[in-house]
Amino acid sequence: MQQRFLVTGGAGYVGSHLVAALIERGDEVVVVDNLRQGHRAAVLAGARLIEADLADAPRLDAILADGPWHAVFHFAALSLVGESMAQPFRYLLDNGATGIALIAACVRHGVTRFVLSSTANLFGTPARIPIDEEAAIDPSSPYGESKLMIERALFWAGRVHGLRSACLRYFNAAGADPAGRLGEDHDPETHLIPIAIDAALGRRPPLTVFGTDYATPDGTCIRDYIHVADLADAHLRALARLEEGSVIYNLGNGRGHSVRDVVRAVEAVTGRRVPLLEGARRAGDPPVLVAASERINRETGWQPRYPDLADICRTAYAWRLAHPQGYGDRGGGAGDDITL
Ligand code: UDP
Repeated sequence: MQQRFLVTGGAGYVGSHLVAALIERGDEVVVVDNLRQGHRAAVLAGARLIEADLADAPRLDAILADGPWHAVFHFAALSLVGESMAQPFRYLLDNGATGIALIAACVRHGVTRFVLSSTANLFGTPARIPIDEEAAIDPSSPYGESKLMIERALFWAGRVHGLRSACLRYFNAAGADPAGRLGEDHDPETHLIPIAIDAALGRRPPLTVFGTDYATPDGTCIRDYIHVADLADAHLRALARLEEGSVIYNLGNGRGHSVRDVVRAVEAVTGRRVPLLEGARRAGDPPVLVAASERINRETGWQPRYPDLADICRTAYAWRLAHPQGYGDRGGGAGDDITL
C-alpha cells in the first residue's frame, strides 16, 4: 500500500537518495528543504518539493497539518565538523534546537514514526573499535552534540508521547546513486572523496591531508565509508522495524580506510595521481571511526550492497564526470549558508 512521507532535507545528499528509494517503491513523498545546501534538481520527479525553512514555525505547522504522515525522515542539517568547531552555537541552535522543535511539532500533529539522520561524531574518541551502539557517547564536536540533542529529544518523545524513532548513526556517507541520477554536490566541498577526485582531475588545488601524525598505521585518520545507496536502504529497513519499537543503529561497513587508502582508491579509479599536501590536523576529527553494524543486520537483514571502497569511489567519479558542475545551480544562494 502506498504510504506518505515527509522528508526534511530531501534535496540534500543523503536525503535525495532516500527520496529516490521511496519513489521507487511507489510511495508518496513530500520534501521540505530550504535549498541553501540542497538542490532542486536532486528531488526526483515523483516527489513534491516545498521550499521552506524548518525554523519557520508557522510554516512547519502548516506543512505537518497537511497529513497524515506515515513517518517523518529528518535529514535537514548543517553537517560540517570543522565548521561546527568555529561556530558552535549555530550548530546547537540550527541543528539541535530546530530539530527538537520539529519533534515537538510532529508530536502535536500526531506523527508516530520518526527517522533521524544521526552521526558517528557522537562517539568522540571511542575506547573500542569497531564502535557498537553501546559505546560511550562523548561528542567530539558541536555538530555531534547537536545530533545528540535530537536523539535525546526523541528518547523523551518516545517515553512520554509514544513517538517511535530510528536514530541512524552514519559513519562516512560516500559514493553516488549507481543509476547516475544523484550525487554529492556541496559548496564548498569539504569531503575527502569528492575533493580527492577533483584534485586528481586538476579541477582544484592539491588535497591537503589533515594530519599525518595520528596513532594509526600510516598516521592519517581512519574512517568507515558507506555507500549512500546502502544508507538509503538502511532507512527503509529501520522504518519497517519501527513497528516493533524504537531503534538506534550504527551504520558502516565495519572496515576502516585511512586518508591515504582513499587517495590510492581514487587514483586507481581515475587512473590519475591525486596531488597531495600534508597539513595540520582538523579540529574535531577523531583518529579512528569504524562501525559495528551487526545490530541493524541482525534486526532488519540490512547488508551493504556496495561495501568496497573501489565501488564507492567509482560511483562518485562517474557522477563527477557526468555532472562536472554538480546540479548546476550555483549562485542563487546555494551554499551561501556555509562559511569556512
Ligand atoms: N580529510 C582530509 N582532507 C580533506 C578533507 C578530509 O584529510 O580535504 C580527512 C578528514 O580529516 C577525515 C577524513 O578525511 O579524517 C574524512 O573527512 P570528511 O570531511 O570526508 O568526513 P568526516 O569524517 O568529517 O565526516
